[in-house]
Amino acid sequence: MVIELEFQGAAGTVTGSMHVLHLPDGPVLLDCGLFQGRRSWAKERNQSLGIRPADVRAVLLSHAHIDHSGKLPYLTAHKFSGPIYATSATCDLCKVMLADSAKIQQEDARYWNKRRAADPSEYIQPLYTIEDAQATEKLFQEIPYGRSLPFAKDCTATFLDAGHILGSACVLIEIERGGKTTRLLYTGDLGRFDLPILRDPTHPLPEVDYLITESTYANRRHDNPTAMKGAIVRIINETREAGGRVIIPAFSVGRTQHLAYFLHQAIAEGLLEPLPIYVDSPLSVRVTDIFTRHPECYDEQAREFWREEGDVFGRGLVQYITDVRQSKQLNQRSDPSVIISTSGMCEAGRILHHLKNNIGDERNTVVIVGFQAENTLGRRIVDRVKELRIFGRLYPLLARVEVLNGFSAHADADDLTRLLGPLARKLKGAFAVHGERGQLEAMAEILNNAGCSNAAIPRPGDRFALA
Ligand SMILES: [Zn+2]
Repeated sequence: MVIELEFQGAAGTVTGSMHVLHLPDGPVLLDCGLFQGRRSWAKERNQSLGIRPADVRAVLLSHAHIDHSGKLPYLTAHKFSGPIYATSATCDLCKVMLADSAKIQQEDARYWNKRRAADPSEYIQPLYTIEDAQATEKLFQEIPYGRSLPFAKDCTATFLDAGHILGSACVLIEIERGGKTTRLLYTGDLGRFDLPILRDPTHPLPEVDYLITESTYANRRHDNPTAMKGAIVRIINETREAGGRVIIPAFSVGRTQHLAYFLHQAIAEGLLEPLPIYVDSPLSVRVTDIFTRHPECYDEQAREFWREEGDVFGRGLVQYITDVRQSKQLNQRSDPSVIISTSGMCEAGRILHHLKNNIGDERNTVVIVGFQAENTLGRRIVDRVKELRIFGRLYPLLARVEVLNGFSAHADADDLTRLLGPLARKLKGAFAVHGERGQLEAMAEILNNAGCSNAAIPRPGDRFALA
């Protein structure tokens, strides 16, 4: 019985995570993510799957980030009928995030057709619709961490803590063949030790025969996440003394909640005098509600804080805003305050209004807490470009800019060595994915240095038989 592993997405690149396990009774997908990046490049890749969706037996989903889950509605729209196995928190996050992704796909197509398509023959269709996202919701099946799930004949999957985002998991697959067990570990995205709220990644990880590992920051070292609380409090205090406001563009999942938790902690500990703090983003508010519903994912420190304070995310101290009118009212105020808003790379959403209204005042501070891709407004802020174009007009950047790198939710070189190094010697095969060239090579080197002799960097379409 030949079992093959095929690499489709996130092979030689970061986004579009999807790997196929070809089993005798049908293919099973490890993740089904959206390619993100330049429009034409991503569009072409997102419109092909390399597999017939109706043939897919099941999906094992590591976590809710769109580059791992965002193509599931496309799969459903093309006759995939499930199941999709994921942790309970991942299922809840996906319901919100896939609906949001569908909305973006539809708005994008509408915008393109209105502005760019000279005649109807050039019209584009959205990759999928809200109805496709809703149909996908029904296919999710919740799997608790640590429980062995039979997902195909003689095959089980166990979801282990990945410590990356709420609900994130590494997936351990065990295949029984001829009286022996073949073990494969798919890391999904690996998190870090000491990230706020979340439990650390599982360690030691179980010994396996085959490993598929992410490589995002295999060539980097991050600042410690626990140092970020002090840094953000210092910036807020300095800005308040100057009479200014703090504007923080932040991703809806993870970064926003980590900030709310740190600020709530800092106020409870007397490190920060209460001041108006706003989380202004409907998606962030919905995601924070999901965080509140899943304390089973918290680490001991967050659980203790929750028991003492009755809440982790500072409701009462932090104002969560969904209403557009309330959001607009923030623009009329100029008193010292903190505004956390999306999008994380300043490409769309309410953050644009807050930046437009605040970057021209030198008393204010813009704090960058996440990765800013090239050609985004966020990157131009990091580069302290003197004038920024927002909604077609130029605004001078006079506000102070602070960049905090310690909030990253991805394992760095030290974390990857600590987590995966102990597995290296016993591996029959290892595959580095989810990285650009330099990162993939660095990941292979980490494994080689730890005693693995055959770490590979697969290309899209590559297939490997599992011995
Ligand atoms: Zn991720």
